[in-house]
Amino acid sequence: MKDKLFNLIPPAMIVMVVLFWWMGPAVLVKNSWTIIVIGPAITIAVLLMEMVHERHAGWRMNKQEFFTDLFYVVLGSTVISWVSDALAKDPLKALKHTLGITTPWAEHMPFLAQVALIFFIIEFGQYWMHRLMHNTTPFWLTHAPHHHITQLNAAKGAVGNPIELFLISLSALALFDFQETALFCAFTIGTVVSTFAHANVRSDPPRIYSFFFTTIQHHSLHHSVEYENTRCNYANSLILIDRVLGTFRAGESAIVGQDERKRLSIWEQTVFPFRPAIDWYKARREQAMQGQPNTDLAA
Ligand SMILES: [Zn+2]
Ligand SMILES: [Zn+2]
Repeated sequence: MKDKLFNLIPPAMIVMVVLFWWMGPAVLVKNSWTIIVIGPAITIAVLLMEMVHERHAGWRMNKQEFFTDLFYVVLGSTVISWVSDALAKDPLKALKHTLGITTPWAEHMPFLAQVALIFFIIEFGQYWMHRLMHNTTPFWLTHAPHHHITQLNAAKGAVGNPIELFLISLSALALFDFQETALFCAFTIGTVVSTFAHANVRSDPPRIYSFFFTTIQHHSLHHSVEYENTRCNYANSLILIDRVLGTFRAGESAIVGQDERKRLSIWEQTVFPFRPAIDWYKARREQAMQGQPNTDLAA
């Protein structure tokens, strides 16, 4: 009974999110605070669900994980978001203005069609960026820290190297003129799906949900220990893209991590992409020092 109830929570939340942004009270829908508050509220709600219906005891939240996750949640909603706006979204909007690109058809589409298209644009971009990260070394070095996490929970989607968090935030969305509420609706759906896709909640939604949306089964397999097993299920929320493009794999993994499941500290995650360059520099310096004549002996 409890299992059945929890299996229905993700689809029920999607329905509630759509109804809220589509026909909710204007005082909330038009309030600029709503979109700011709704993301953390979803994360907290799902973290609480982990406490009452846990998936794996090995993924249980502890103090160390909690404060690491909190750091990344705050980093993502402040610095990463500001940098992404300043370096990507705003220049793209300016370019759109300069080139005179207009898409008046976008905001005249039916509300649900706008939401579906926005969701697809975001997910399609993220899919290719994520796939690139798993197939090209410099990009993998930025994404690998996210795969070094050794347990999953509702906040783990926010954890990663800052460069990766910036790269994965890039989107062509600023080129289109959509209604703001449709944008917020698509963002919130993405938050619900991706939060559950990392969450330690015993919840396996009905097939109609998991056909379209990424679940913890799909994404835990993506977090497998064997690197080769991570090269599937790239879609953050819209697993349908993997199904269509042939990168979908069914299955699940309770054991997650990389490099013999070595957990990285925040500092180790931050410097991770520069590790090969740092090691190369150190090796060269050591070599140079060994090659120097020993002045003591010479004297
Ligand atoms: Zn990945
Ligand atoms: Zn992940």
